[in-house]
Amino acid sequence: MYLSKLFIPITKELSSEAKIKSHQLMLRTGMIKQSSAGIYSWLPLGFKVMKKIEQIVREEQNLIGAQEMLMPTIQSSEIWKESGRYEDYGEEMLRIKDRQGREMLYGPTNEELITDIFRSSIKSYKSLPQLLYHIQWKFRDEIRPRFGVMRCREFYMKDAYSFDLDEEGAKKSYNKMFYSYIRTFNRLGLKAIPMAADTGPIGGDLSHEFIILAETGESQIYADKKIFEVDLNKYDSSDGSLEKMRKDFSSFYAVTDDKFKENDFNEKVKKESQVKTKGIEVGHIFYFGDKYSTPLNCLIDAQGGKKAPVKMGSYGIGISRLVGATIEANYNNEIMKWPRSISPFDVVIIPSISKNNKENLQKAEKIYKELKNQNIDVLLDDVDENMSNKFKKHDLIGIPYQIIIGSKSEEDKFEFKELNSKSTMLSLESIKSQLKNK
Ligand code: ATP
Ligand code: MG
Repeated sequence: MYLSKLFIPITKELSSEAKIKSHQLMLRTGMIKQSSAGIYSWLPLGFKVMKKIEQIVREEQNLIGAQEMLMPTIQSSEIWKESGRYEDYGEEMLRIKDRQGREMLYGPTNEELITDIFRSSIKSYKSLPQLLYHIQWKFRDEIRPRFGVMRCREFYMKDAYSFDLDEEGAKKSYNKMFYSYIRTFNRLGLKAIPMAADTGPIGGDLSHEFIILAETGESQIYADKKIFEVDLNKYDSSDGSLEKMRKDFSSFYAVTDDKFKENDFNEKVKKESQVKTKGIEVGHIFYFGDKYSTPLNCLIDAQGGKKAPVKMGSYGIGISRLVGATIEANYNNEIMKWPRSISPFDVVIIPSISKNNKENLQKAEKIYKELKNQNIDVLLDDVDENMSNKFKKHDLIGIPYQIIIGSKSEEDKFEFKELNSKSTMLSLESIKSQLKNK
């Protein structure tokens, strides 16, 4: 893609509502545009990043055997009346009437709908366990939408649901998801801490919020930094090993402020290992047993002729929130650097050009073609503007690698730079192999 052709409305004007870096940066680099309070359009640059995140989430869900499906955004109120949440959900739920006067709603989550689908098709324990997920827009009429895509009203979420015969089975499904989440956030280049969260009346310890470290987060967190040293390679995909992995993670102190006790923290975590910072919730996994299957009468024929409500869990990841959260986690000294796995482009070529000198641009075009042929997703900055402006712009856009073609270039060597580090002179061949190996 040539930058001059890319729809990327870079702007210096910022609304006063953009209080945190990710929101400012996403507006400035034209990743999103607000359409009304807490509702955004995703422009090409932002959309590309979000799609890459979505794909990583999808691959990691598929890897543990979860099956993708798609439920609608608009739901009937009937099933929500059955579960009792039509009343309980309150004003966060957007309620709509269709032309027949039927009460509909824009789904804020999907426990009821998936339970309804499940109860009408699966009757026997022989079809269990099941793990289903979809990636779909949600709407919650948040009282205070803010921080851009981090707390908005319409947002994109992966939500998965597990169905098991008993608690023992449900725990295995939970552990698979736990493992999948750790892997997903690693691939996104994020340090995510699984924190024990409230389980409500269900009790037990099967509820975790995944929180990434960022000064601008809404949750205050306290943790033992050794939790980052847990080595995933130690575990295999057997049930016993996954159970051990979750227990190993849970053995480290990690709480949000509602569970925090100063004495406890100091006793359990050495001073040099203490992490006190803010964090952003990017995912939540939760076992809730028969909370929905009992009121919705979702029963399974268990062995021995007995019927029992299916045991369920739900597992969410805020895909659109992750775009902003990744910026918060990576932004440093006016420079944004995307992790390669989700960067809008793999590399940008920045030639120094002017009206009288098109030689660099020609060189750049040649390199562009060669990289394209290698399936490297490359952006060429063909805009006629001075180099210092170009560099500032690319510090904001955050593509992690640059090939600079200017005064330093030699016949067959070019300046190759990783953002936040020094540049080196490399041949095109070594640039290619560097980019392929990253
Ligand atoms: P929060 O406490 O931040 O409101 P929640 O507990 O309501 O989150 P869940 O219902 O568990 O969130 O939703 C799963 C994920 O969806 C969250 O971990 C978060 O990443 C994302 N999410 C929830 N609400 C929003 C929102 N208003 N805007 C963007 N993403 C959201
Ligand atoms: Mg919420």
